[in-house]
Order: sequence, then C-alpha cells, then structure tokens
Amino acid sequence: MNTKIVFSEKCLGYGQYHIEGPARVKKAAEVLKGFGYEFLEPEPASEDDLLRAHDVEYVWNLKKSLVEDPDTPAYDNIYEFARLAAGGAILAAKVGGFSIMRPPGHHCGRSGAALGAYTRGFCYLNNMAVAVRHLGKPTLILDIDGHHGNGTQEIFQGDSKVTYLSLHRHPHYPGTGNDSRGNVLNFPLWADCGDEAYLETLDAALSQVSKREFEVVAVSAGFDTHMGDLASLGLTEKCYRGIGERIAELGRSVFFVLEGGYQGEIIGKDIDQLLKRLESRS
Ligand SMILES: [Zn+2]
Repeated sequence: MNTKIVFSEKCLGYGQYHIEGPARVKKAAEVLKGFGYEFLEPEPASEDDLLRAHDVEYVWNLKKSLVEDPDTPAYDNIYEFARLAAGGAILAAKVGGFSIMRPPGHHCGRSGAALGAYTRGFCYLNNMAVAVRHLGKPTLILDIDGHHGNGTQEIFQGDSKVTYLSLHRHPHYPGTGNDSRGNVLNFPLWADCGDEAYLETLDAALSQVSKREFEVVAVSAGFDTHMGDLASLGLTEKCYRGIGERIAELGRSVFFVLEGGYQGEIIGKDIDQLLKRLESRS
C-alpha cells in the first residue's frame, strides 16, 4: 500500500457521547490496518499555521474553550485536539497521505460559523484550509462530504491559487452551497440521488476546471454521503471507487482529509475503495 494513513490515538480522547465520537475513526483505523495500510503519527499544527486560515481572536477563544454552540461542544482541551487534527492534515499534504484525524473541519470559517450558518457543525479548525495554505501551491479542493463545506468556501472565496469544488446534498445543513461564484463551484444534489447521478455530476463538475490551474488535488473526504448516513446521497462502495478513478485521472499529487461519515466500518471500506486506483497507479 502506497498511501499512508495519518492517525493518532490521541484523537480518541473527547466527545464519547456525540455522534462525531471516537468510535467512528477508531473502527476506520482498524479496518485500514486490516487492509495493510501503513500509519503515520502527526504533530500538532503551529499557531502560525492556524493563523493562515483563521482570525487571531477565534484561535484565542478556541484556546480558552469559549466556542460552544448546539452542535459543537466546548470540550476540555479542544484546542489541542483540533490543533493535532490540523497537523494531521498538514502531514497528509506533505506525504500525499490520508488523514483520518478528528475533529473534522470544513464547516469552520475564518472566525467560526461561516456564511450565516448557526453552528460550526462539529468543526473547530478548518484542517483542509490550514493544510492547503501550509503547502501554498495552486490547489483544487474537491469536497465530497455530503454537507456543503461553507467554512472552506468562506476562507478561499476569491483566492486565485485555489479552486473549491463541492458536491453535496441540498437543501440540507448548513443551507449554503446552492450557487457558484468565481473560484467556488457548487453542485447541489438531491437526497439519495444514487451512484449514477453522483458520478455524472462529478464528471460535469470536473469538466469545468482547467487542469493547468492546479498542481495538487486536496480531497475533503466525507463519507456521510454513503447510503443511510447523515447526509445520504444513497452512495455505495462502488461509487467511492469511481470517485477515486476520476481523482487519479487528474494526474496530480493528491492528499485526503477526513470530514464526516458516522459509521466507522463503512468509512474504512469506502476509504480503501477511494484509494484503489491511486494505489494501482504508482
Ligand atoms: Zn458532512
């Protein structure tokens, strides 16, 4: 297996009773170990790295756990957990790996809840934004989580180095992502649209971006699109293999950062399917 999985058991230490709980990534890690993937341990992101994507006041409040909202509790030491997940995304970006660290990140904007959303949707720092800014290369962010990445859109809207492309369920939380503007391309899909409609939409979406514009593909990889999960688009394992084939065909270096997905065993299997074609490429 060529793609390294970025993971630390330290990320299991909070939120036992929340749907975004430790069991999901613990199980996913077990499944991926069973498939033979190699694992790497991340270091926390530096404060300078965080400040490339977030306002100083927000980071300050997060340090003091002053960021409670109805979806996103102010756990003890959440700043340290979030910083380690952001570091996981940076390591994945450096080695072309897949970070399965938690908490997720794509709903978190520069200073928390983004684009009019009421909550940060289980997110504390935008791991993907921190990693993309750390790398500093022209990047296509492909967001395949079932929810729109309102935080990522907010951070990168108007950034000439980055194209943000998202396929997501709509109408659904956080209520954004119904239209496209400039470097942000949004493709709303109806609940349980199924594999075929999803892959057709992905092909249409990718045909709108010029390969000359990016050196890196950064995948915000959520699996709550899987049939029956929180933002179900009715997708099966086969669809993730199809998504991975399209990513491999872009012919660029790739890294992945876990977003949502709430059934650990399914996350592990879907990740393996997503990586199949990239694994056979090299
Ligand atoms: Zn999601």
